[in-house]
Amino acid sequence: MFTGVHRGIIKRDSQERRPIGQRLAAIITQFNLILQIFDVIPIQNAAETHWSTELAQAIKSPAELMPLLGLSDTSLPQAEQAMASFRMLVPRPFVARMEYGNPNDPLLKQVLADDIEMLPASGYSKDPLAEGEHNPQKAIVHKYERRVLVITTGSCAVNCRYCFRRHFPYGDNQLAQKEWDSIIEYIQQHPQVNEVILSGGDPLMLKDSQLSKHILRLNELPQLKRLRIHSRLPIVIPSRINEELLSWVKASRLDIILVLHSNHANEIDAAIAEKVTQLKAQGVTVLNQGVLLRNVNDSVSAQVELSEKLFDAGILPYYMFTFDPIEGGAHFDIPIAEAQSLMGQVAKYLPGYLMPRLAKEIPGEPAKTVLAPTFSSGA
Ligand SMILES: *Cc1c(COP(=O)(O)O)cnc(C)c1O
Ligand code: SF4
Repeated sequence: MFTGVHRGIIKRDSQERRPIGQRLAAIITQFNLILQIFDVIPIQNAAETHWSTELAQAIKSPAELMPLLGLSDTSLPQAEQAMASFRMLVPRPFVARMEYGNPNDPLLKQVLADDIEMLPASGYSKDPLAEGEHNPQKAIVHKYERRVLVITTGSCAVNCRYCFRRHFPYGDNQLAQKEWDSIIEYIQQHPQVNEVILSGGDPLMLKDSQLSKHILRLNELPQLKRLRIHSRLPIVIPSRINEELLSWVKASRLDIILVLHSNHANEIDAAIAEKVTQLKAQGVTVLNQGVLLRNVNDSVSAQVELSEKLFDAGILPYYMFTFDPIEGGAHFDIPIAEAQSLMGQVAKYLPGYLMPRLAKEIPGEPAKTVLAPTFSSGA
């Protein structure tokens, strides 16, 4: 499956980590140029900031964020406490899509640490999906028969205040080599598994040199058909889809499905659409999952626009999850009956293929539970 060109690119990555990398850089640039002339790899947009730079420049407090939006920082001391339990992290390309001067902006609401998170709320837990019980070994969550979920890293490029993993004890550590060895072993011991899902945290936080190495090993397991990647990173930092990523995608024998995570139409812009086009040119299936959130996307128009905008960008809606009762997130919660009736109204305006499945994860069930939209009589 590997051509010399792909091997060359992967080798280049590993060379870059060595001290002599700097000297090699000049040679590599020439090498890239040659490949580009022969149209082997796409010419990179020179103006594009590398994703790791975007990540390093992400915003980490309300005091830093609010002035960028022309808003004053009115956060209470409890917001500090909220940040201590789950730090604030917002990349600038995501901030650029927020509406200036709007304290109720739906993108802002998802990421701003808020004192409301510290209010006590009964019925909200630190592990609502009981994932702690399904970890057969470190980094694997195997709940559903033929697909295993691998927690590649605990870190993300954006910290979403509603995240059901906000209390999960991952740390920011990435898996060590011997942990990957035991994941491979686990998959081999479960021959019914035909799909691996890279999740986290956010698996695209891993460097491409590492991802390509791990995916090479997955390619070699004949039982596997598909590789799925669950990531919000390309939404908040579109430059994450760069030529390095596209080259390991192209090299993989597995069918790749990228499930993005966005919740509001304003999150989708031309930069993302362009990246999706590049992914699709490599045969990647691009889907979206979102979470139904109070004051973010809990209106008919917000849902309809999200699906329309996703489709315009080449992305198909997959799931819309109901909120998981996570401690600190009660203010995002929407009762299930309300969610079903909302989706019933949304269905009036969208073709069936643009209707995300309203779903909920019920601990112990063999699959996600899909909730049917409900229609009010006469509607
Ligand atoms: C959600 C989830 C999956 C994927 O479920 P699909 O319905 O295939 O999208 C797989 N494993 C675990 C542990 C999950 O939580
Ligand atoms: S990117 Fe995903 S895993 Fe990370 S904080 Fe947001 S919702 Fe949670």
